[in-house]
Amino acid sequence: MTKRDYYEVLGVSKSADGTEIKKAYRKIAIQYHPDKNPGDKEAEEKFKEAAEAYEVLSDAQKRQRYDQFGHQGVGGAGYGGHTMNMDDIFSQFGDIFGGHNPFESFFGGGGGRTRGRKGSNLRIKIKLNLEEVANGVEKKIKVKRLVAADGVTFKSCPTCHGQGQVKKVMNTMLGQMVSASTCPTCSGSGQVIDQRPHGVDSSGLTSKEEVITVKIPGGVSDGMQLSMSGKGNEAPGGGMAGDLLILIEEKEDEILKRDGTNIVYDLYLNFIDAALGTQVEVPTIDGAVKIKIDPGTQSGKILRLRNKGILDLNGYGRGDQLIHVNIWTPKNLSSNEKQTLESLRDSENFIPKPGKNDKGFFDKMREFFNQ
Ligand SMILES: [Zn+2]
Repeated sequence: MTKRDYYEVLGVSKSADGTEIKKAYRKIAIQYHPDKNPGDKEAEEKFKEAAEAYEVLSDAQKRQRYDQFGHQGVGGAGYGGHTMNMDDIFSQFGDIFGGHNPFESFFGGGGGRTRGRKGSNLRIKIKLNLEEVANGVEKKIKVKRLVAADGVTFKSCPTCHGQGQVKKVMNTMLGQMVSASTCPTCSGSGQVIDQRPHGVDSSGLTSKEEVITVKIPGGVSDGMQLSMSGKGNEAPGGGMAGDLLILIEEKEDEILKRDGTNIVYDLYLNFIDAALGTQVEVPTIDGAVKIKIDPGTQSGKILRLRNKGILDLNGYGRGDQLIHVNIWTPKNLSSNEKQTLESLRDSENFIPKPGKNDKGFFDKMREFFNQ
């Protein structure tokens, strides 16, 4: 793997001073921060690459070695490759953001202790029927969260003596190198548990059932994932709580079918009602609605009930309900019925032909019969 030139990575000149280097790195770190680019591998690589470049160029000794020997001088040889892990990177942030990591307030941490690990995410599934999908719904959901337990006492971490970081001194062929990383014992919080009550795990957390109100907007669809920041498991040592991730499942409706923001209903009429006109009841998400069928209604006609569909997730109003008219041809006839129909067979009005208002009638007929 060929590494890019560190100056090129940060976009600074070879003569850049410490302030310029810090400024350049801060910009890149904000742009490619994993919290802002979840799941984006390329952003993560860029983020790591910049962190590594910054680690070297911000240190006078390492920078000098790098200028003289290139990547070999600060990584490759000596201690078997040099890759920073995320903990190393985040521990740099105290330095470049002046003791305040902006991501903790950007992403819902805020106030109080923010050192240490983030709590893990909780995942739940919510099944919604068509009406709930169409209008949105508020649901009270029972979840089991890990929360900080009462009665836990803390003491200063024996590994890092409350610093949250450990310094590693490494002897390389190019001399001693010191690197700081997050303390593995306390995960950076600087404290460990002294005493804990029964039922509390070694990170000071205990499982608690809580009822959480989840507000689901109208227009969501199957497989979509909503996220409630800070409603996941609390973090060991008082860090940010994780998120509650809500996976949406749509229960299929037997009668009304969803098509984007529209709802489709198949109406079956006998040909007498279609010929004479009638009134029928049609189900909608708001209950049954009476609609008028005009005399001479053809099979394949689509009637529209405005604003009886599904809310648009992005706030562009509500879709319609579309009623597809299908004409039912009787299959089993009594001899009486046959006679009645026979007497009508030769009537000129029973021969298919477009009327005054049946523009495109033959196209519709072809489409219908060629299916
Ligand atoms: Zn520690």
